[in-house]
Amino acid sequence: MSDCIFCKIVRKEIPAKIIYEDQYCIAFHDINPAAPVHFLIIPKVHIVSLYEVDDAHQLTLGKMLGLAPKLAKQQGCENGFRTIINTGEVGGQEVFHLHIHVISSNNVLPAMIHRSQ
Ligand code: 5GP
Ligand code: ZN
Repeated sequence: MSDCIFCKIVRKEIPAKIIYEDQYCIAFHDINPAAPVHFLIIPKVHIVSLYEVDDAHQLTLGKMLGLAPKLAKQQGCENGFRTIINTGEVGGQEVFHLHIHVISSNNVLPAMIHRSQ
């Protein structure tokens, strides 16, 4: 996808603070972090969202999920972290190239979805 911003990061056409890269995926700091630790893990291939995932993506997805704790430890997340995959309009997805957010702080993160009662 030539105009996808995350594909451009994969191709090094725009800068990003990359913390990890292999043949399957790349991880980099979020440009607008929601917490002291906030990085994204993305597949190198353009997958629009979790909706578009199929069996052929299993290896890549496994690599991405397995990387989350390894990179979180490297980033100093001693007491845990949160992973988020926003999917589609309802999920609040803004960049339509699949990504896992890894977010952490020294304090307990606020609840993502507040109960109405
Ligand atoms: P989404 O809402 O799609 O799950 O999250 C997209 C994330 O990508 C946001 O947290 C946003 O700050 C981040 N982002 C958008 N554009 C860029 C960019 O050009 N570089 C980096 N590093 N992060 C980006
Ligand atoms: Zn893309």
